[in-house]
Amino acid sequence: MKAENCFFELVPKVVPADRETMIEIRSLFDHVHFTSERQYEVTYYPVEEISHQSSWPEQHRKRLKVVDGILRMSQYFEGEQEHVLSVEEIWGKNRRSVGEFRLYSAQPDLFGRKPYKGDIHMHSHRSDGRESPGYVAGCCRRIGLDFMALTDHRKYKPSLEAQQAYAGISTDLRIYPGEEVHPPNNPAHIINFGGSFSVNDLFEDKDRYQAEVDQIDQQLGPLPAGVNRYQYASCCWSFDKIRQGGGLGVFCHPYWFTGNRYSPSGALTSHLLETQPFDAYELLSGYDRQEVDSNTLQVARYYEERAKGNEMPIVGVSDAHGCETGSLFGWYYTIVFSTTLEHSNLITSIKDLFSVAVESIPGESARVYGPFRLVKYALFLLREILPQQDTLCLEEGRLMLAHVAGDSSAAKLLGNLSGRTAERLANLWA
Ligand SMILES: [Zn+2]
Ligand SMILES: [Zn+2]
Repeated sequence: MKAENCFFELVPKVVPADRETMIEIRSLFDHVHFTSERQYEVTYYPVEEISHQSSWPEQHRKRLKVVDGILRMSQYFEGEQEHVLSVEEIWGKNRRSVGEFRLYSAQPDLFGRKPYKGDIHMHSHRSDGRESPGYVAGCCRRIGLDFMALTDHRKYKPSLEAQQAYAGISTDLRIYPGEEVHPPNNPAHIINFGGSFSVNDLFEDKDRYQAEVDQIDQQLGPLPAGVNRYQYASCCWSFDKIRQGGGLGVFCHPYWFTGNRYSPSGALTSHLLETQPFDAYELLSGYDRQEVDSNTLQVARYYEERAKGNEMPIVGVSDAHGCETGSLFGWYYTIVFSTTLEHSNLITSIKDLFSVAVESIPGESARVYGPFRLVKYALFLLREILPQQDTLCLEEGRLMLAHVAGDSSAAKLLGNLSGRTAERLANLWA
């Protein structure tokens, strides 16, 4: 975290584009306090282009007023971009840098949304993961996530166990239902995020499933060479069922390399991408470092489809099979730009293309994939706003895990922290 963001608070940090807004910078600690005995000057930089409306010439410095130890300035923030306020302190003939403060101006459709981090593809020990559902949820808060869903193979109930582990407890992590759906004799993996019932359970009625898939198949007409008709129809059936339950159907890890081939087949993947019976595409999936080819191909394919005019809702997921293994957990996630954390709002926002996939491998800088406008904004948020959000979540996550471990004092302490992350975001938006 940059020192400026540790020692000072700039409010607001996200402002409406093409409007004048009053900005305040206050010091949080007395080793950096502003005093009326000194003078403060600011140089303003819109990072993309000099503002046409603000009448602020390039490299021009302005004096700032100190009122009650707070620096104030009013400025017109043009367009959708990041802005830098480089502040200097002056006394006598001396001059020193106080810091570079950054904020972002956003158009109304983006300004009205908050960034929410989530992972909607993970496993517990109810399938082939390591830990209990409640443990996985606590770990998700510990790494700064706002929402999550456990998606065990062929199992919906563990996701409900994750919710039950915190029943009656005040926690700001949204824990939603989920499962990884594996239709019989179909290599495609599918995530049901937030659906109200298990789609895996429907496979138990084999005759009904087969009859319904046959019906879809009969309406398909000819398919491209190499596409298995049953597999494609089975995918369509699964995505339909997920939607019937109010869930988001995700086409998982399309370039997973296993058994010396991609699974599912290239022909099936291409037809799914071209016809999009799914709701979202797993742009970044839980691949280990040596499997980097798979995410690279998924990203390349996404940009190529978009270049053809084929827009595509996206998510990034860890597909972690353990939170303490040192790999995958927390490496890939989604930022959804949404008005609230309600799952219906998150799903609508993803479908409306208001999400990005983030790669955050330890020791490396975060990389963001998705529409250019959102990538640009997400990079600002990951640098300037979300690290402090992570710190607040860390405290909550530790307490959630203490609660799961049987610490009876954790629930009360969690209650005291309730609402902090939402309140901070609300304060930072003008
Ligand atoms: Zn899978
Ligand atoms: Zn999985």
